[in-house]
Amino acid sequence: MEKELKLINVNKKYKMAGKETFQALYDINVEFEKGELVSIVGESGSGKSTLMNLIGGLDSDFTGEIISGGENLGKLTDRELDKYRKNKVGFVFQSFNLISHLSILDNVTLALTLSNVGEKEKVERAKNILDRVGLSEHLKKKPTQLSGGQKQRVAIARALINDPDIIIADEPTGALDSGTSMQILQILKEIADSGKLVIMVTHSEKVASISSRVVEISDGRITGDHKNEKYKKTKSAKIAVDVSKTTTHETENATTDTAENASSKSDKKKKAKNSKDKQNLSLWQAIRLSFHNMWASKTKNFLMAFGVAIGIGSLILMMSFSSGITDYISATMNSYSDPTIATISKTGSSSDLASMFAYNSFSEEEIDGLVSNINAELDRQFQEGLLEEKFEITDENISYGIQMMTMTTGAKVIYNPDGIVVDYFNDAEMAESGLSFQNIIYLYTTPPYYTDTNIIDGEMSTAEGGIMFSPSIARLFEDESIFNEDGTNREVDIAFTFTNAQGQSTNLTFDHQEITATVDTSVMSNFLVMYIDYNYFQTLFNQNQGTNLDPNVLYIKTDSEEVTNAINSILAGMEGYTGSIEEQLANMFINMSSVIGTSLIVISCISLLVSAMMILVVLYMSVTERTKEIGVLKSIGARRKDIKRIFTSESFLVGLLSGVVGIVFNVILTLIVYLVLINTIGIAPISYRWWYFAVALLVSIGISMVAGLYPASKAAKLDPVESLRRE
Ligand code: ADP
Ligand code: MG
Repeated sequence: MEKELKLINVNKKYKMAGKETFQALYDINVEFEKGELVSIVGESGSGKSTLMNLIGGLDSDFTGEIISGGENLGKLTDRELDKYRKNKVGFVFQSFNLISHLSILDNVTLALTLSNVGEKEKVERAKNILDRVGLSEHLKKKPTQLSGGQKQRVAIARALINDPDIIIADEPTGALDSGTSMQILQILKEIADSGKLVIMVTHSEKVASISSRVVEISDGRITGDHKNEKYKKTKSAKIAVDVSKTTTHETENATTDTAENASSKSDKKKKAKNSKDKQNLSLWQAIRLSFHNMWASKTKNFLMAFGVAIGIGSLILMMSFSSGITDYISATMNSYSDPTIATISKTGSSSDLASMFAYNSFSEEEIDGLVSNINAELDRQFQEGLLEEKFEITDENISYGIQMMTMTTGAKVIYNPDGIVVDYFNDAEMAESGLSFQNIIYLYTTPPYYTDTNIIDGEMSTAEGGIMFSPSIARLFEDESIFNEDGTNREVDIAFTFTNAQGQSTNLTFDHQEITATVDTSVMSNFLVMYIDYNYFQTLFNQNQGTNLDPNVLYIKTDSEEVTNAINSILAGMEGYTGSIEEQLANMFINMSSVIGTSLIVISCISLLVSAMMILVVLYMSVTERTKEIGVLKSIGARRKDIKRIFTSESFLVGLLSGVVGIVFNVILTLIVYLVLINTIGIAPISYRWWYFAVALLVSIGISMVAGLYPASKAAKLDPVESLRRE
């Protein structure tokens, strides 16, 4: 009869630092049969554990042959060895090596979980076996709640769950008192008597004397091998494991169960092949296992998640801030423009503020040229069917304006073709001006798209003698009102001086001008802007200068929004022209805010990088803390892939948790920032896009999974023998 286990000329050398080796086993030749209860005895350091690890398939670095159940261990691939450990052998260790964060039930079923056996079958089999070792009452307990003897019985149940042919027990009673030792021994004996091969390492003579055979090892060599003639088999070995189970190991395939007959056997084998993937640890189970582990150190994990969450939360805030500013500006822009008026102004020669504020006027020839260019293009678009209606710019639908000429009350504004120079009045002149302090004023001629809806206070009128202001004007009066006590319009005198290129200066004075209204001026609201009728302004200017001031804005009243858009896009394609100055300003703000927004996002990303390092360190430490556990997992047949999967699931969970906490944190943070902004500057430009949260989740899961790559692969590569040896 074929022996269950056969070792032929087995030699084992450990590689040491450098090129040195240490030979732990010499020419081991030994055979074992099913039903034997073998004690391996020998002094500490004689090579017993080394032998056990070889037999158990934990260590495949040896010379010679080990034939177990017909398989030549030295010739198996890593995957086949994993399978061998999973199905053919069961390990019992001196220090129990139960996984502390899993319940007794989960510890016992771990090997089945690794094989993706269905929940129901798993529990049934575990209960069955735990019942046999007398622990059916303790399924839900954690290992720390059990006594040493109970723990070892759990470990035995775990070793038995896959119905292996060989049980390897390395000093199973070493950590137990003698009474408990005897109970454990009795269980092992019953397992052997039920037809399995049990090989145990022991120091206790008493334990050895009860076994059916004693093999002595000394300095890596077998020095004795005695059969115990007095050995008596237990009559009815009650541990006889799971009679319903087949001798093949296909049963681990989740769908199989007890009804076993010859005809279905081949079907079953096929099935097992087809569902090969299903025989391995499922992603869901990996997540469940890592969840248990994370739960076991929830404080640590929560703190770590919170650290990441701070980065994630501020990242969302920065994104919503940056889009909020853009939204706010474009919303205000939209509410202050008329879709049937196209505004044209000239861009400065460069994009800096000084150039933008310079007075870029249109000469008559330039206007004619521009208008005919636009007309030609509009005509072409109409001919080609790009425009539904024909539109031509004529004297009828074009009007002019002046915008953004800087002047100051209490100051002389000196105009010359090269720019504007500001010269201050003396105190006496200042007192005469009627305004309480100096302030820069922007002069606008009233744009045609301003209507009553833009009026804040007073009435829309910039006919002769009347001027309008942005709301800030009111603040310049003590009672903050543009009206006198009797309800009449307040009047102001504003005087400034234009100096032409030849140095001839002319005073331009607005005497007793009624402030007829304050208007909301979109992005210009916080500036002091004065609105005056274009024709009235030109009359005044002509009186003083003998000539008109060239306009710097053209307004084209179109028939439809379509034409307006067409004109705007024609302008966009032309060098040197742009829309209204508000539009330019708005674009500048949007650009500025996106620069600021981007830098804030970069800062958040740096904080996320720090978080990633933190995750890496924590997961790395977790691998170190859990080497024993990883060794145990490997001993029961976990593949590298499974270990990696468990650790990767853990980083996934860390990322998910951080993302969720980050979103909650962000909502709270945003609320605070919102309230602070509303109560201080009156507006809170924060707008969310739904996908910000999705991005946050993905980023947080992404960084934790990337950070987890290294620890996970380190865990997967741990040498099981090394990790189990670790105390
Ligand atoms: P036992 O279990 O009988 O106490 P071991 O099998 O653990 O002994 O060890 C046998 C010998 O091999 C000892 O001398 C030990 O120091 C050595 N040894 C064990 N593991 C290693 C290793 N990884 N590298 C080098 N030597 C080792
Ligand atoms: Mg040992």
